[in-house]
Amino acid sequence: MLNSSQKIWMDGRFVDWDEASVHVLTHSLHYGLAAFEGIRCYQGQMGSAIFRLKEHVDRFFDSAHITMMRIPYSKKEVSDAIIETVKVNQLESCYIRPIAYIGYGEMGLYPGDNPIRLAIAAWHWGTYLGEEALANGIRAKVSSFTRHHVNVSMTRAKVSGYYVNSILAKWEAKKSGYEESILLDPDGYVAEGTGENVFIVRNGILKTTPLTSILDGITRSSVMHLAREKKIPVLEERFTRDDMYIADEIFLTGTAAEITPVRELDDRQIGDGKPGPITKTLQKTFFRTVKGEEPSYANWLTPIG
Ligand SMILES: *Cc1c(COP(=O)(O)O)cnc(C)c1O
Repeated sequence: MLNSSQKIWMDGRFVDWDEASVHVLTHSLHYGLAAFEGIRCYQGQMGSAIFRLKEHVDRFFDSAHITMMRIPYSKKEVSDAIIETVKVNQLESCYIRPIAYIGYGEMGLYPGDNPIRLAIAAWHWGTYLGEEALANGIRAKVSSFTRHHVNVSMTRAKVSGYYVNSILAKWEAKKSGYEESILLDPDGYVAEGTGENVFIVRNGILKTTPLTSILDGITRSSVMHLAREKKIPVLEERFTRDDMYIADEIFLTGTAAEITPVRELDDRQIGDGKPGPITKTLQKTFFRTVKGEEPSYANWLTPIG
């Protein structure tokens, strides 16, 4: 069960956690068109702060724009509502989930004038794959499911319906005794995890998949930035599943998964079978950054006053 908090922001006002419901004929519930975000707020020495709020709000509006949903609030109003949701619930570190969805009205595929509704929830959510996963890495599997084709799903958008593919891949991995799936794209190259981007390290060079059919992860871009700052060469280049097998290190990035090392893939040990030096350096810098311990990245943090 998730760790409930007290209030959820719904269409401009706070409602009690247990009262935050929608009609069962809500359009998005049936057809999966809703845009969402996953954002984290971390507690640091200087209090709590939201990591890269602007980038998340921008992507949220981009997702809505791509899918023809007009969010009836400005970016400023949404940002303020996100901050307010953390404050009202007196959360120090938390996960924040804004979602814009098509409300009750027409039930055909053409949503016509159905209202676009907006909810923002925040609750305490620790490590996504567990402390053990962050410290020692996970066992992953290349999925039998293929990730999206660019002209089937527009992956610049974080859209709820796309996650049917992720859930199926996740089930398959879990049922087969693995913790996570890595999916290939329709051409057979590595795409991403079920909700994470993928990085590999070989001979000191960091490589991640180009932005063709994957989500443009904010953790991904942060990690690329931090790596370049540390003079680690970073390439955005297609790679294959066997490139992963012979990599020195593999890790996954995402707001939920943060930086999760992969110690085994398809029953092949990766590198030494434990998080490698580049993964560990980036993890350390990332966690310092989100907690406000890296002054040069203070502009990535929005303090909760
Ligand atoms: C959210 C998500 C990511 C990670 O993006 P972040 O901005 O780092 O949280 C990667 N892939 C998919 C499919 C996602 O949904």
